[in-house]
Amino acid sequence: MEEDCIFCRIVAGKVPSEIRYRDEEVIAFRDINPKAPIHLLIVSKKHIPSLLQITQAESLLIGHMVTVANELAKKEGVSEKGYRLIINCGKEGGQLVPHLHMHFLAGRKLSDKLG
Ligand code: AMP
Repeated sequence: MEEDCIFCRIVAGKVPSEIRYRDEEVIAFRDINPKAPIHLLIVSKKHIPSLLQITQAESLLIGHMVTVANELAKKEGVSEKGYRLIINCGKEGGQLVPHLHMHFLAGRKLSDKLG
C-alpha cells in the first residue's frame, strides 16, 4: 500500500467510499464525481501506477476487471442496455489518479465522442 495514494487508502478502508463489489483482486466503488448516472471505478487492490506497468503476468488482472464489469452490469441492471469501460493511461490519456482503475459508465446513452 502507498500511504499517499487515495485509491490505496480506499482499498484499506481508511477513506470512505460506496463500495459495490469486492474480491481478492479488485474493489469497485462509486466515482465521487460521476460523469454518467452510473459511474463506478473498478480498482486493483495492488498498487499498480498505470496500464504501462501491465506485463504478461498482470494481463489476467485486466481480464478479471472485465468480468467484474459484467457482474456490475447485472447488479446495476444495465447488461442489456449497455455500458462503457475506459482506462485512462498517463497525462495525455487523462489519468489523474496514478493507481490502476477502470471506469464503468452507464445509465444513459453515452456521448459518441471518445477523445
Ligand atoms: P482518472 O482521471 O482516470 O485517473 O480518474 C480518476 C477518477 O477518480 C475521477 O473520475 C475522480 O472523480 C475519481 N475519484 C477521485 N477521488 C475519489 C474518491 N475519493 N472516491 C471516489 N472517486 C474518486
